[in-house]
Amino acid sequence: IAVANQKGGVGKTTTVINLMAGLGKAGKKCLLVDADPQGNSTSGLGINKRDVRHSTYDLLTREERASEAILHTEYKNVDLIPSSMELAAAEIELVELQDRTMQLRQALVIDCPPSMGLTTLNAFSACDSVIIPIQCEYYALEGLSQLMSTIKQVKRLYNPVIELEGILLTMYDRRLKLTEQVEEEVKTHFPDKVYKTIIPRNVRLSEAPSFGMPALYFDPHSRGSRAYQELTKEILKKYRNQK
Ligand code: ATP
Ligand code: MG
Repeated sequence: IAVANQKGGVGKTTTVINLMAGLGKAGKKCLLVDADPQGNSTSGLGINKRDVRHSTYDLLTREERASEAILHTEYKNVDLIPSSMELAAAEIELVELQDRTMQLRQALVIDCPPSMGLTTLNAFSACDSVIIPIQCEYYALEGLSQLMSTIKQVKRLYNPVIELEGILLTMYDRRLKLTEQVEEEVKTHFPDKVYKTIIPRNVRLSEAPSFGMPALYFDPHSRGSRAYQELTKEILKKYRNQK
């Protein structure tokens, strides 16, 4: 699963970290691939970026085996392929390569940068599906149609299995009229694709990363953590029903 939206700050990293923590607690072994040079999901799991030796960059540009780059985290069943500053250069180096969108195919990508460059295209070529977090604010829907057509194009050119996994409404604030409007509009456009679970705006979710912890560990009973636990269940249930 790739978690993507070219819009910045919509909750991609928060979703990735807490979904991983939830899946891990549910007994699923999972691998988080930090494909964003900002490295927020790397530091959010308590890994110091300065200690990183092998990163997603090496997977993208050097045919390094994923197993070489995997780090174990303190969190149950959650492993990580970390980001590094060099990842920013991958965008430029990849342009030179032949199979430039296929470099991650053997690995597993999750946290995408807020851009539609070659790193995100690699994520889309390597994944089976995409989760799109949407912040319940003005302009939320702008860019969504572009993102959908990029996914369609990837499906045609590189990855026939890719599909939209679901749209996740994040930073929901019931007091704001606008929030409800965004919710209605998204549900009109994508009736079957919006997760029932909605992530509320919750300060514990934003505090957890500075402690290098998923909110699910930092404060498991907070509203934000409970919402991400619900999301984990919703996703697991869907996969069970598919089998
Ligand atoms: P980028 O595009 O820069 O990678 P992103 O899409 O990964 O950003 P996050 O880093 O997850 O977005 O979230 C942006 C900011 O909002 C962060 O400071 C995060 O802690 C905060 N945040 C995310 N979700 C919530 C929420 N539900 N309630 C309150 N704050 C949140
Ligand atoms: Mg991020």
